Amino acid sequence: MQTTLLCVIDGLRADALAATETPTIAGLMARGRSTLCARTVMPSVTLPCHMSLFHSVEPGRHGIVTNLWTPQVRPVPGLFDVAHAAGLRTGAYYNWEELRDLWRPGALEVGIFWRDCRSLAGDQRIAAEAARSIGRDQIDLAFLYLGYPDECAHRHGWMSEAYLEAVRNADAALGVVLAALPPEVRVVLTADHGGHERSHGSDAPEDMTIPLVIAPAADGAGGDLGCGVTILDVAPTIAGMMGFPPASDWEGRALL
Ligand SMILES: [Zn+2]
Repeated sequence: MQTTLLCVIDGLRADALAATETPTIAGLMARGRSTLCARTVMPSVTLPCHMSLFHSVEPGRHGIVTNLWTPQVRPVPGLFDVAHAAGLRTGAYYNWEELRDLWRPGALEVGIFWRDCRSLAGDQRIAAEAARSIGRDQIDLAFLYLGYPDECAHRHGWMSEAYLEAVRNADAALGVVLAALPPEVRVVLTADHGGHERSHGSDAPEDMTIPLVIAPAADGAGGDLGCGVTILDVAPTIAGMMGFPPASDWEGRALL
């Protein structure tokens, strides 16, 4: 099985990619399909948005509307639950602990949590762990979460120089992971939400607009996915790329 890497950079605004140098992401965009006007869900908050990414339903359906996880009343199977049931090996590498409930017990082959999303070094460390594990542990579907751009922006402001440095650092961290993987690895890169001033959570365009990059493209590189794309489309797209059926509850659509 060809490895697929889902990378979420917390708080990555789409327009940050034009405001600073992100050569890893630029390389993915050049050989893939992408959009800088995808939308996340309301509330534009980390755990609700990740739940919607993994479960392809709105927060009103999965029920998580704050950063506190609670069991779903009417459970929707998540991306890793479905992938694991299809026989794929899954790995999660993350540095914000609340994400540990994005999959149900039994769905994960490897989970590495590093308790530091508050420094450049924290993102570098979890990327290094992913770079070591994915090949060694024969992971088919890997989730890499880099949390520092969001933490930094809460302190210094979105689009501040410190934030853009955190974005460059996350881009380099993703580059370290890709360098450890075969060149044919498939990558989906996105964000959970954007932000403005020192906050997010509203329906303002700065909070709701996220980038989405899928590489390599199946049908011609460099294509624009357009602005009708949402975070709900990520899980069905990955299912389509990897050849397993999406859950019947999922509301997004496969983009390729
Ligand atoms: Zn935040």
